[in-house]
Amino acid sequence: MTHQPAIPTLSSADPEIAGLIEAEAARQHDKIRLIASENYVSQAVLEATGTVLTNKYSEGYAGKRYYEGQQLIDPVELLAIERAKAVFGVEHANVQPYSGSPANLAAYLAFAQPGDTVLGMALPDGGHLTHGWSVSATGKWFNAVRYGVRKETGRVDLDQVRDLAREHRPKLIFAGGTAIPRTIDFPAFAEIAREVDAVLVADIAHIAGLVAGGAHPSPVGHAPVITTTTHKTLRGPRGAMILSDAEHAKAVDKAVFPGLQGGPHNHTTAAIAVALGEAAKPGFRDYAHAIVANARALAEALIERGYDLVSGGTDNHLLLVDLTSKQIGGKPAAKALDAAGIELNYNTVPFDPRKPFDPSGIRLGTAAITTRGLKPEHQPLIAEWIDRTITAAVAEDTAALQKISAEVRELLSAFPIPGYRA
Ligand SMILES: *Cc1c(COP(=O)(O)O)cnc(C)c1O
Repeated sequence: MTHQPAIPTLSSADPEIAGLIEAEAARQHDKIRLIASENYVSQAVLEATGTVLTNKYSEGYAGKRYYEGQQLIDPVELLAIERAKAVFGVEHANVQPYSGSPANLAAYLAFAQPGDTVLGMALPDGGHLTHGWSVSATGKWFNAVRYGVRKETGRVDLDQVRDLAREHRPKLIFAGGTAIPRTIDFPAFAEIAREVDAVLVADIAHIAGLVAGGAHPSPVGHAPVITTTTHKTLRGPRGAMILSDAEHAKAVDKAVFPGLQGGPHNHTTAAIAVALGEAAKPGFRDYAHAIVANARALAEALIERGYDLVSGGTDNHLLLVDLTSKQIGGKPAAKALDAAGIELNYNTVPFDPRKPFDPSGIRLGTAAITTRGLKPEHQPLIAEWIDRTITAAVAEDTAALQKISAEVRELLSAFPIPGYRA
């Protein structure tokens, strides 16, 4: 039972860290990983991240660097850029942002001044911290106005978006979020942004893999600027990209470097290129659609067991479950599920009467379990385990959790993961 690629040198040089990495690989193998922002990257992506490219400084862009020795780094970054442009059908790609949060910060730097008004989705309704939430630098340094979802439908309230945009005339409008189980209507956002002359930023961090695989409508042609992480449904290394039309390209590049960052993480850039190469293959379309099929099947199975899904279901990889009717908070439910071998996160639900650190809901996603080959036919069993766990948690029956985790491990033993040889 070892990490793949194997880490024999690390194991003798630093057994303490190596031991933790080996144990984490086993943990990732033994759990049903339903954290909506996580995945299993391929061994090729893992290998690319662990290379000598980490040794190189490359401030600047291909052909215009501030350090010598870029003969091989330039082609790596250019390949990543070309692949990003081809996979998403965009005119420009910047592959240097360190992660999703800095990518969004670069969008602010490129298209707004401190104190300007920006419009983003409220965090408790499914938005991201960097869309102007109060505790984020973006909420402190900008005048952030927030939209949410409709109480009756759990879906983004586009009338509210339009009203707020007309009233506040934001410089930037963010579309997208971290807990949105439904299709994002990019054309509707684009119309609103056009009317008030705002730059529409589509943050597709969660759904990038679905967009790449044709399982969610693309924002291209509607949003001139698109930010995304590379490590969620897109199944690449931890990193991010900013995609844009030609008109906004220069401002994006200037904002990332020298505006916000120093040297790009070249080992990550290489791994992004590898992941984009995988996303360009026909099998990735099947993967993206299989993620959605699994999410739908899991949603149906949970609804059948009396669970209350925000918006009543899902169009993508993500489910948000309101546990109020089950007499348990999201946090104790998530902790019990983890003990039962089912890993997810507690989450606020829209109009949550409870506190963010102890909210009413749990968030589930199917990107990782789809990578390891679980199918719609497995979803009723996962829903049954979730239901048994929550019943056991309410009854404080810890023995039941142990039993479920053994059943989980038994099923998963037939579904290998990249990164670990059982
Ligand atoms: C995950 C996420 C981010 C931030 O990504 P990090 O890599 O964690 O900084 C930004 N926006 C959205 C919508 C996200 O889901």
